[in-house]
Amino acid sequence: MNTRIKVLIVVGILWGALSIFFIPSYAEEPKFTMIALGVSGGLEEGNLPSYLLAQAGSHDFIALDAGTLLTGLQQAKIAGNLDDIRTESSAVLQQADAKENATDVSVSAAPPLQIESYVMQQHIKAYLISHPHLDHIAGLIINSPDDGAKPIFGLPSTLDTLRDHAFNWKLWSNFGNDGEGFQLKKYEYVRVTPDQEVAIAGTPLNVTPFELCHSGVTSTAFLVRTQDDYALYFGDTGPDDAEKCEKLQHVWQTIAPLVREKKLRGIFLESSYPDPRDAKQLFGHLTPAWMMKELRRLAEAVDPQQPATALKGLFVMVTHIKPSLQADTPRRDVIKKQLEEANDLGITFAFPEQGDRIEF
Ligand SMILES: [Zn+2]
Ligand SMILES: [Zn+2]
Repeated sequence: MNTRIKVLIVVGILWGALSIFFIPSYAEEPKFTMIALGVSGGLEEGNLPSYLLAQAGSHDFIALDAGTLLTGLQQAKIAGNLDDIRTESSAVLQQADAKENATDVSVSAAPPLQIESYVMQQHIKAYLISHPHLDHIAGLIINSPDDGAKPIFGLPSTLDTLRDHAFNWKLWSNFGNDGEGFQLKKYEYVRVTPDQEVAIAGTPLNVTPFELCHSGVTSTAFLVRTQDDYALYFGDTGPDDAEKCEKLQHVWQTIAPLVREKKLRGIFLESSYPDPRDAKQLFGHLTPAWMMKELRRLAEAVDPQQPATALKGLFVMVTHIKPSLQADTPRRDVIKKQLEEANDLGITFAFPEQGDRIEF
């Protein structure tokens, strides 16, 4: 063995040892998997808010809001982001292959499920609905005839609206286990209590809901926990100042210790409009400037001594951008630029697109 090869081997061994002892690689290991089924804050009926979330390595998802389901799953499939679930669900695929290869046309095997339907029926274990605005429930209603049985988690005010105004045999059939007329009982309403954690059956996830102020409607933030790691999803919310409420401040105070201990892996937070926008024109939403103002309040709660560095590296996924029909620069690009310019806290912003899969 020549000297050069020996040196390379020694360097390799040293590098390996250093990686083990000095690079805390466990900290980089993702704890959650997210698949974006819909990301727009309105108009685009095939792209309304819904985010699948699972513990990393698990395919048992919850859906955070359900504005768009099937179209989002189709986009995720095209992007190859359902491939590992496809591999796992080999039984279904074998059935599909058997049908494709069947020469005897009289064989009447049940038609195979498409992977996106399979994921919707079998792998979405629960819906967590932030509030009953149509853009957050439309996909759930439209897909209900072909969905599998599962619970819908939400505050009583959210679920009662869904029960009384959607699943009521007038707007739609009653797929719930409560409410008007015959109950098809596909969905079980699970009424959650603010600030109280509940387990989500069929997943290793637990959720604590927090109330939010959204222009006269009570919206919800869901703090999702798996073991000792957390993700925080915000439904629509206005800033505390404009809403004249303290709900966001309560969330910031509650999660500050989790940020301090690096247990909060990521936040989903809305920025519906670009700046500038007057407080009176927010209609219960945030803009980049209002979002940064709120995140500065979180920074103060995390480290009152050094708020400027308190949120360094915090992962924030920006949601609910409202598209504009005017042919100027897309709102998404404007909001992205404004947030990047205003980001003096070292936050890592992401702007998921429909079908994207992010591990964090
Ligand atoms: Zn809303
Ligand atoms: Zn909305």
